[in-house]
Amino acid sequence: MNYAPPSPTGNAEAFVFDNSYARLPQQFFARVEPTPVAEPWLIKLNKSLAEELGLDVAALEREGALIFSGNRVPIGAEPLAMAYAGHQFGTFVPQLGDGRAILLGEVIDRNGTRRDIQLKGPGQTPFSRRGDGRAALGPVLREYIVSEAMFALGIPTTRALAAVVTGQPVYREQILPGAIVTRVAASHMRVGTFQFFAARGDMASVKILADYAIDRHYPDIKDKDRPYLAFFKAVTARQAELIARWLHVGFIHGVMNTDNMTISGETIDFGPCAFMDAYDPRKVFSSIDQIGRYAYASQPGISQWNLARLAETLVPLFDENADTAVELANDALGEYGATFQRHWLDGMRTKIGLVTSEESDLDLVQSLLSAMHKGEADFTLTFRRLCDSARDPAGDAMFSATFASAEAIQPWLQDWRQRLSRETATPEARSAAMKAVNPAYIPRNHRIEQAIAAATDDADFSLFEALVDVTAKPYEDQPQFAAYQEPPKPEEEVQRTFCGT
Ligand code: AMP
Ligand code: MG
Repeated sequence: MNYAPPSPTGNAEAFVFDNSYARLPQQFFARVEPTPVAEPWLIKLNKSLAEELGLDVAALEREGALIFSGNRVPIGAEPLAMAYAGHQFGTFVPQLGDGRAILLGEVIDRNGTRRDIQLKGPGQTPFSRRGDGRAALGPVLREYIVSEAMFALGIPTTRALAAVVTGQPVYREQILPGAIVTRVAASHMRVGTFQFFAARGDMASVKILADYAIDRHYPDIKDKDRPYLAFFKAVTARQAELIARWLHVGFIHGVMNTDNMTISGETIDFGPCAFMDAYDPRKVFSSIDQIGRYAYASQPGISQWNLARLAETLVPLFDENADTAVELANDALGEYGATFQRHWLDGMRTKIGLVTSEESDLDLVQSLLSAMHKGEADFTLTFRRLCDSARDPAGDAMFSATFASAEAIQPWLQDWRQRLSRETATPEARSAAMKAVNPAYIPRNHRIEQAIAAATDDADFSLFEALVDVTAKPYEDQPQFAAYQEPPKPEEEVQRTFCGT
């Protein structure tokens, strides 16, 4: 493996920055430069994302190690660490902020959308508290793999533009290679960004932030009456849909603190996250989530709890009369449940091949899920194999084999076929439609751990590369990668994931 630093010459102007957050008043951030690292080496450049951002791919292939390590700040960047607060596992922390992340600036992508370019792991900032501002290689690779997989699955998410190793160790429970991931986001505003100012009684800043967020993410509501209420409702709607999408693919975020929840509706901060293998609604991976606050099936409720914290920061903007304002906030928050349920059930219907809707569909979905729970069926494999059953009952044997007892699932298959008989799609069309929403490939936790171990222990990135490649086409059958569909063998099973911070 060649860790030699690339030559420090070449085109530093691969980015055309157009920074807006840096124009906000100074209480919103602290200006800070990345701390240079010893021997940066480019692990991965996301070429298709670079192209989408209008960047010079050839220049970045040459110079990426310098730029994505923070060793050379590109022209036009205005590096800053954002201020935010947050509820962490229910406890309010009035000051968090970017302690190990630096926003380089914003670019306008090929679709005209403003995107943040942020280094994660570039050294200390005024928000680092006692932290080193660095990231270890494992969490960097995990964020790269999982955020790109989420994108390929069609779920709103931040993206990974590049990963570098720094050539410097980081000190955690063990000594680990240091690394930096470059994250691209619609923005990095969080629920916790609003909380930061509200907690200080600084409503003027809350209003500036809300106006900025409306301009950037919800421009259509600018001219509505009660724009701040409309803004809150819009954030609520996006979050409700996002969490439904997570549940459809078995995703468990792991740390749904209010500082890890975006205003844009993108998934952010891939810490101890994981896709579950065997279906269990109480499933938790994160080693720090001892009471299961952020378990799979708790995510909708927690998202609504977080939105209530957002409402608290905005409520004085809803109406001059405090009682009216609170009433409006409660009504808006009350819409979350129905919006979530609609998205969730629509998605579940599609997953089992239904186009029309009937009253009893919820029961049909629930009884499949409870059979999966009881039968310890692999979440991803069950739905993928159901796509084959939809085309031809010959697929039933493979489908049934994902359950501990193949017999136990036969009554459900009968009910399902009965229900399908009232649909008009051909079996082929139904199967194809199902395959477009039921992934064959997700980044399974044991595969991620194997990729991280090979990279960390042997500087071998081939498993990382393969996992990124296979999960880039999650809905396609890729016979050469069939093994990546398999759940872990008992000895490969990962029970706990760690933040690694
Ligand atoms: P996260 O785990 O990414 O949600 O981070 C929670 C808070 O801890 C944020 O304010 C981070 O900036 C901060 N933090 C996490 N790891 C570090 C680190 N290694 N150095 C400094 N701050 C950190
Ligand atoms: Mg965070």
